[in-house]
Parts: sequence; structure tokens; C-alpha cells
Amino acid sequence: MTIRLTNKSWDREFIRKVEEISGENFHVCMQCGTCSGSCPMREDLDLSPRKIVLMTHLGLREEVEAANTVWMCASCHKCEAICPRGIDLPKLMEAVRQLMLRDNEDQVDIADIPEEVRV
Ligand code: SF4
Ligand code: SF4
Repeated sequence: MTIRLTNKSWDREFIRKVEEISGENFHVCMQCGTCSGSCPMREDLDLSPRKIVLMTHLGLREEVEAANTVWMCASCHKCEAICPRGIDLPKLMEAVRQLMLRDNEDQVDIADIPEEVRV
């Protein structure tokens, strides 16, 4: 996967907001991939947890928000428990979800949920 960086793609406000909402310093990630290797949802994610951290670090808001990853994350905290840098990835995922919801961008459409599982 090629990541192209331009002044336009580097969204500093996105980085600042994710830092503020999550309270996490995800910039210390060393891209070891331990989180991705341990994630039970990995097969269903457009971008692995490792890539989400990298792309958030780089301010690639469009790419992060276009992926299903932050919505598919089960918040199981397995990645957090074994991250050598102590990054709480579920908090980062939640921060991105919060930002998207503030912009009314939701990947869950109530109308698409079968009636029997709505209650
Ligand atoms: S386990 Fe931690 S340090 Fe390693 S890639 Fe994942 S977030 Fe980064
Ligand atoms: S918290 Fe999310 S990203 Fe981390 S291992 Fe669990 S499902 Fe994967």
C-alpha cells in the first residue's frame, strides 16, 4: 500500500482532535504490528490497527475515516494489553468515531438493522 503525503493530506487539526479526545500519545508507536497480529477482528478490517495508528499519526483523515476499522473494532483491549508502547488503541478508535459522529457520518444505518435485533 502506497501512502502519499502532501500538505493537503496532512490534517493537523484531525491529529490534534484525536490526541485531545483519546488522551493518547499514539506518536510513540514503533509500527511493530503486535496489535494487528493479536486483533481478533483483523480479517474483517479494511485497515489493520497498526495502519490506523500510522495514518492517524500522519493526519490522513480521509483514509482513516473511509475504512471500516474504527467501527469494526470490538474494543476488546487485547492490543492495548500487549502494545510495547502502552498505546490504548480502543481509545484512539473511539476518538475517530466521535469525530465522525460529530460530522453526522455514521456507518450504522438503523433502517438496515433487522427488526428482530433492534430491541
Ligand atoms: S502494538 Fe503498539 S507500538 Fe506496535 S504497532 Fe501496535 S500501536 Fe504501534
Ligand atoms: S481493541 Fe479493537 S483493534 Fe484492539 S485487538 Fe480488540 S478489536 Fe482489535
